[in-house]
Amino acid sequence: MKYTADEVIQFVEEENVKFIRLAFCDIYGRQKNISIMPGELRRAFSDGMVFDASAIAGFGGAVRSDLFLRPDPSTLTGLPWRPENGRVVRMFCDITRPDGRVFEADTRHLLKVAVEDAQAAGYRFSFGAEMEFYLFKTDEHGEPTREPYDHAGYMDIAPDDRGENIRREICLTLEQMGIRPESSHHEEGPGQNEIDFRYSDPLTAADNAVTFRSVVQTIAARSGLWADFSPKPLSDAPGSGLHINLSIHGGVDTEPQVIAGLLRHAYDITAFLNPSRESYLRLGSRKAPGFITWSSQNRSQLIRVPAAEGEYRRVELRSPDPTANPYIAFALLIYAVLDGFHRRLPLPPSTDLNLYEAPAEQLAGFRRLPASFEEARAAAASSAFVREHLPAAVLEAYSGE
Ligand code: GLU
Ligand code: MG
Ligand code: MG
Repeated sequence: MKYTADEVIQFVEEENVKFIRLAFCDIYGRQKNISIMPGELRRAFSDGMVFDASAIAGFGGAVRSDLFLRPDPSTLTGLPWRPENGRVVRMFCDITRPDGRVFEADTRHLLKVAVEDAQAAGYRFSFGAEMEFYLFKTDEHGEPTREPYDHAGYMDIAPDDRGENIRREICLTLEQMGIRPESSHHEEGPGQNEIDFRYSDPLTAADNAVTFRSVVQTIAARSGLWADFSPKPLSDAPGSGLHINLSIHGGVDTEPQVIAGLLRHAYDITAFLNPSRESYLRLGSRKAPGFITWSSQNRSQLIRVPAAEGEYRRVELRSPDPTANPYIAFALLIYAVLDGFHRRLPLPPSTDLNLYEAPAEQLAGFRRLPASFEEARAAAASSAFVREHLPAAVLEAYSGE
């Protein structure tokens, strides 16, 4: 159910809500929030709530420091882990300048514009994110260790798999928050898990990805564990990916140009899909791609077309990791695909071999993803495509230029 501002006000009164969290993300997609009391809610809707932007990553520098949070009532959800009596709810917010103008480093806004641009071109996108994460034990001070919660492997069951109760609680919590989990399993690494939830429109999917991370971390912490979303926490085990599935409604047989558009721009946008130094320790091994190739047959490729039909037919991009800001990532993927359509980019041949085992001379013919943080940042900085679609403040934060 999507609420209006009046319905949110009514809900807060009738459901004994005591705290309203106004949430947004910094430029790197990390969630932030401020809690307001019910008496401030009407003012938040009409005028916005002021905050100090200079202390938020990527928001400082260029602006005078006051910005305003304007809650989006359609994103209202309860936080089920907070007390039943004196409930807590959360809304994502738009960010504006004091004069009401959009704040350009609000990456949620960036994705909204990308969705509008796609609609204007006649396309409607769906996105689904699959996030992997590790569960680590905490030490006697409650600080995270690098000791995995268990030593189970792919799809193992209890008692080797100790994560079943945590995944269960995460799935039930997501459901209560209106996010539909579809499946969950133990992943290949020790203590590594994955939970997949249903695809949706791009903005909802990005909001859900942000919510997902906070739910997983909260539920893990309640069990005395640490949920780790970094790309390569253990050097001798698989990394954690954020596979992005996308499909398009509107066109007929759009898949070839979707793939072509993504392949064309993959190199330039890697700095946004893999924004941390650690991201480059993951790429190129253990089912994380290193080459700009596609195939329907195996998981060593950047793009895979999974065996699924009808509603679930989609293209899976395998390079992103959970340190990506989903709003920026989805926006850039939308623009890459639209470029595939506009320029009718031809589909390169598929690469039906296991790239981790192929001989070096065969690999020499394939284009690589950036191999390092520096290479990715330089690629973003010199990309006309990136410059066209991202505001300078966002590009600067990610390229270091
Ligand atoms: N953990 C792998 C990665 O880093 C992906 C494994 C899978 O195919 O689910 O991308
Ligand atoms: Mg998966
Ligand atoms: Mg997986």
